[in-house]
Amino acid sequence: MVSEREVLQSVPTQLWIGGPVDATGGGTFPVHNPADGQVLAEVADATPEDAVRALDAAVAVQAEWAATPSRERGEILRRVFDQLTARAEEFALLMTLEMGKALPESRNEVRYGAEFFRWFSEEAVRVHGRYLHAPSGTGRIMVHKQPVGPCLAITPWNFPLAMGTRKIGPALAAGCTMIVKPASATPLTMLALAKLCSEAGLPDGVLSVITSSRSGAVTQPLLDDPRLRKLTFTGSTEVGKKLVEKSANGLLRTSMELGGNAPFVVFDDADIDAAVQGAMLAKLRNGGEACTAANRFHVQNGVLEEFTTKLVEAMSNTVLGPGTDPNTTLGPLINEEQLDTVSELVDDAVAVGAQVRLGGKAPGGPGWFYPATILSEVPANARILREEVFGPVAPIVGFDTEQEGLAAANNTEFGLVSYVYTRDLDRALRIAEGIESGMVGINRGVISDPAAPFGGVKASGFGREGGIEGIEEYLSTKYIALT
Ligand code: NAP
Repeated sequence: MVSEREVLQSVPTQLWIGGPVDATGGGTFPVHNPADGQVLAEVADATPEDAVRALDAAVAVQAEWAATPSRERGEILRRVFDQLTARAEEFALLMTLEMGKALPESRNEVRYGAEFFRWFSEEAVRVHGRYLHAPSGTGRIMVHKQPVGPCLAITPWNFPLAMGTRKIGPALAAGCTMIVKPASATPLTMLALAKLCSEAGLPDGVLSVITSSRSGAVTQPLLDDPRLRKLTFTGSTEVGKKLVEKSANGLLRTSMELGGNAPFVVFDDADIDAAVQGAMLAKLRNGGEACTAANRFHVQNGVLEEFTTKLVEAMSNTVLGPGTDPNTTLGPLINEEQLDTVSELVDDAVAVGAQVRLGGKAPGGPGWFYPATILSEVPANARILREEVFGPVAPIVGFDTEQEGLAAANNTEFGLVSYVYTRDLDRALRIAEGIESGMVGINRGVISDPAAPFGGVKASGFGREGGIEGIEEYLSTKYIALT
């Protein structure tokens, strides 16, 4: 069993550019524990010059990494998977300390995050081209896949490991080098991962981590540099839109994993106990701080009260506390700003007529805690139905017909994931086909799987992570014409 002190002492707090290096000028910024607000570590604060150093390092080894046999690249990724799995407890504790989630959630994330290295270690050797005779008889067509080149990944705080590994795994498998700029709230996990990758045999320069409190300023010179070929971003829709604009100048390849507003639709014919179990996962996984979190519950009126009562019963067993406490099932939110956002959305819903069935008030005190909360009879004009709550709050709304249920589910600018509970197969398929989201869970409260293509439509972005699609994001297609 590793202690908090040992874990924190083992994490590099310098930038990782071919190994640990100080930020130019030696600046640092603090990383806080959301459970008590205490400073966990001071981490190197990269400058724009440091970002360019990381790109220099990536460019210097890009050709050699691309030419490394795919089997060899795959074997390095596999060793990263093995070592991450062996050190799961250490990484889980580190994530809980800097992000706040309960330890079992962090353990799940280590398992999930590590899987991207195993999956893409297997995909590395399955990048295929094509060869055919032109139908006109004028020659031969060869189609060849090549790595796009040096990539920049910008990642959020809610899954400090997995949001990085979903990008690093396929990029490295495809033969790309990568610079990661993790969220300033949770930079430690990515620094620890960079060190582990190096220990697993990843050549210097292939993966760099630049931690910074000035994300815009530090990433700008990279987006302006013609040597960078791709930006992959996971975060809010607002920042994603800005980054697409900034990427236009260099015509960068971009992948955008953005915000969500997932509907959880329960029909009269559903297995209500299963729906409640699924709702617990879809709502409370990662403390509700997940882009895939069910943001609003649309329940057919025939089962509305039964579903609500059972969900209140299930959610009232949630234990709010520091993520490191073994009894805790719900940790704190990431910071005060997030606590204010969640509180405001609940207060707004109540002000326009929603009923509080559970929770509804922050307990106060040190740390950014908010209890599991259920709101019923939420009016259509409540902000919580339109905005991503990113917290443990379940607003419930009734509907009458299937058409109304589908229309309510689609009444959002977002389109990441939707959840549907019904025992009618025809209805399940009708809804899955009609719903405007990149992913649909049918009678399932968790859909994330490294072997499946994860991603959204509409304001939830574009591009896919995981599955056989994931590696395509890091490959360009070259057509070679032959006689
Ligand atoms: P965010 O504020 O958009 O930040 C995401 C990342 O972008 C962070 O590293 C942040 O750095 C950086 N950033 C912020 N402004 C920037 C700028 N002007 N230029 C360059 N980088 C910039 O999002 P967040 O609050 O960390 O994460 C929550 C959001 O992520 C939610 O909307 C959630 O739905 C979304 N998300 C989506 C997925 C998905 O797969 N679709 C998965 C997880 C999360 P700093 O930390 O320094 O601000």
